[in-house]
Amino acid sequence: MTASYLDYNATAPLRPEARNALIAALEHPGNASSIHSFGRAARQEVEAAREAVAALAGARPERVIFTAGGTEANNLALRAARRGVLASAGEHDSVLRACEPALAPLTPKGIVDLARLESLLDGEGGPDVVAVMLANNETGAIQPVAEAARIAHAHDAILHCDAVQAAGKIPVDFTALGADSMSLSAHKLGGPQGAGALILAEGHEVEPLLRGGGQERNRRAGTENLAAIAGFGAAARAALRDLDRMLEIGALRDGLERQVLDLAPEARFHGSAAPRLPNTSCFGVAGLAAETLVMALDLSGVAVGAGSACSSGKLAPSHVLRAMGTGEARAAEAIRVSLGWASTGEDIACFIAAWRACLSRCGKPKRAAV
Ligand code: PLP
Repeated sequence: MTASYLDYNATAPLRPEARNALIAALEHPGNASSIHSFGRAARQEVEAAREAVAALAGARPERVIFTAGGTEANNLALRAARRGVLASAGEHDSVLRACEPALAPLTPKGIVDLARLESLLDGEGGPDVVAVMLANNETGAIQPVAEAARIAHAHDAILHCDAVQAAGKIPVDFTALGADSMSLSAHKLGGPQGAGALILAEGHEVEPLLRGGGQERNRRAGTENLAAIAGFGAAARAALRDLDRMLEIGALRDGLERQVLDLAPEARFHGSAAPRLPNTSCFGVAGLAAETLVMALDLSGVAVGAGSACSSGKLAPSHVLRAMGTGEARAAEAIRVSLGWASTGEDIACFIAAWRACLSRCGKPKRAAV
């Protein structure tokens, strides 16, 4: 059985560059805060990674704070709120559960409704932090972050942007977006799990979540996770180098969607009417539960996601799809196929063979093979 991994939005396979950097860093005995040569070598490694991560996001290295992932970066960013947070209803749980935000609805295309966002900021004493992600993890829909930032600033609020899914898949320019903070995660772009970053705009600071030593310019205490940071840096460098390959990935994704529709013309795609990440496809077929499909595809050696990436091994119908107005039933049927740096035409062929087998097992209408 040929295995095919198509769940990059949950986590991407480690890039070889990241693996090499990670293993090399594990050999270092140095603490990046020590002043001897071992410590200085570790410090150099951390700062080189900081430069690579900053370059990927169009930011200045001094404004990058390393964290233990996207979740920590989002939690840290939202600590800037004094009067409250207004978040798009499609945000990841690491935003929605980090505070009790007011919610700006999504349109049926999966884009934050900017008119509603603005009206929710009107009036005295409204939220002072607005959270709008750059690309949605389930549908891939790219959000109007620059416009949201302009609206936030006009209402005396700052804009936090979760770019965890966008970085490495589309060009990201922190400065041009006008965001005040931005989260990244290493493992979504081929780096190790458990490493991430929060980027802060010039003049914007946040209260540390972790206190202790003066690491990360007093913004995040604790000895730096040298190996994970080195792996993150190498993955960021490779992701920036390979950005053009995303065109190819987009063509593979589009081909997959055409074949899915050929075999199941009733399949319904979510977020495809919006500008989308080139690697993501979210769809379902009425009457076929996502959980059943994910398990059936898994038996054929194909790994895809369903609902939000489940943190507890249990699938809850997606809050993103429900916010787009798909209704509970459609939300519970949606699977997410996500490609990435190592995906090939073979992965797509493998998926389509498994998809065809699933449909025939479930008694769905079939057409001639394509
Ligand atoms: N934000 C988004 C959009 C995500 O998709 C994820 C992970 O699924 C996170 C944040 C959390 O990142 P991490 O897994 O590094 O904590």
